[in-house]
Amino acid sequence: MNIVLIVIDTLRADHLSCYGYFRETSPTLDRIAKEGVLFENYYASGIATGPGFTSIITGRYPTTHKYYLTPYNVTNVLSFDDNIPVLAEIMWVNGYTTVAIDNLINFKSRPKHFLRGYEYYINPSKSPFVPAASLMAEQANKKIIPWIKAHSYERFFMFIHYWDPHLPYNQPRAYRELYRHEKGKFGDLKILESPDGYKYVPGWGKLDEIVEESDGRTIDLYDGEIAYVDNAIAEVVETLKDEGILDDTLLIITSDHGEGLGQHGIWGHAGLHENIIKLPLILRYPKKFPKGIRVKSYVQHADIVPTILELAGIDNQDVFDGSSLRKSINSNIRDFAVSEAWGERAIIFNEWKLIIHYERELRVLKEIYPKPFTRQNYRALIPILRKTFIKGNKGYELYNIVNDPMEIHNLAEEYPSKVKELEEMIEKWIVSKVGDNDPINYLGNYVQPQPV
Ligand SMILES: [Zn+2]
Repeated sequence: MNIVLIVIDTLRADHLSCYGYFRETSPTLDRIAKEGVLFENYYASGIATGPGFTSIITGRYPTTHKYYLTPYNVTNVLSFDDNIPVLAEIMWVNGYTTVAIDNLINFKSRPKHFLRGYEYYINPSKSPFVPAASLMAEQANKKIIPWIKAHSYERFFMFIHYWDPHLPYNQPRAYRELYRHEKGKFGDLKILESPDGYKYVPGWGKLDEIVEESDGRTIDLYDGEIAYVDNAIAEVVETLKDEGILDDTLLIITSDHGEGLGQHGIWGHAGLHENIIKLPLILRYPKKFPKGIRVKSYVQHADIVPTILELAGIDNQDVFDGSSLRKSINSNIRDFAVSEAWGERAIIFNEWKLIIHYERELRVLKEIYPKPFTRQNYRALIPILRKTFIKGNKGYELYNIVNDPMEIHNLAEEYPSKVKELEEMIEKWIVSKVGDNDPINYLGNYVQPQPV
């Protein structure tokens, strides 16, 4: 068995046609999903790029790998613990040829744990000074396709990192012009009504809050990037097929985090709202997985490593937070999902979702903004906190994501007992992982944000 793990940066689930999006953005992923398994409730373990990729390659949540940052523009701020094993190392030790087509090393912090374990680390950027996110899928494919052809007789683990849906939107012209929404007119969009009574466009937000353009960025361009990377994946799949190894390859396609697209006042990927943490996960391996199955159990980044090891028959003694996705097909592997960012955690439990903003995050905001930090003025400070209900030294957002899928109405003040119940669940979860040593209490300040 070979393994090809494809991570598409900044890809939210609800912009893919196989996840119900009203535009046909993803014909290749739709086809792979029909030939494999699609996970409907897949949540990031960690946000954003740094924590997300670290969770994907360690099988852990940030609470246990403690890499809470995405230090793309700062040097030497954070060292990852060398004692925590990463996926490529385990595969290499167990006889796999390991290859990454990735450029995370272009981050100014040079995060070396993304290099560990690779016999071949191929950086398609061609320069360490190029911003990682500007990489185009065709540059990556120029490295991926010849490598597969040259090594198809080996047993390999391949990690592919595409950046296209991330800013800048620099796709070829055909994909820039693929979707055209006319500003102010909503006839081309799918409009639904939420159970609690507002109109919204799935993937775009509440109708009267949609941001149609921000500094030249549009949802049309974001969707065009998705279609572009989808086509690049078709070329990779075609190559595997031509080499006669497609059905003997475990193909996993996922993302590190989503994208705000103007919802909650954010164009970027901060915070823990659904547009940022609910991601695609599609898996194809006909020898062990049924065809065309859609799984509803909560699954997370941390489940990827245990799944790969189980399917590869690797009996590993390391401890992971996640479980094999095979188990999730017939039963729930967890009762709730947890997603983390620097200074925040979210728990998703049936129709309820609680986001907790911890003291450190609130204090950082207080230090940045010298005005008194009161409930009246924090709303204007930063979009991430604009709806947060502050109580004591924490902030809370409680949503009913069935009635209010766009997370418009923060119910934290109205339902204190629900907040308490969910917070207790998250606290028990933390204790089960790290006892009383919750790393979120030891985050550095905003100048040098790192666990100490
Ligand atoms: Zn990212």
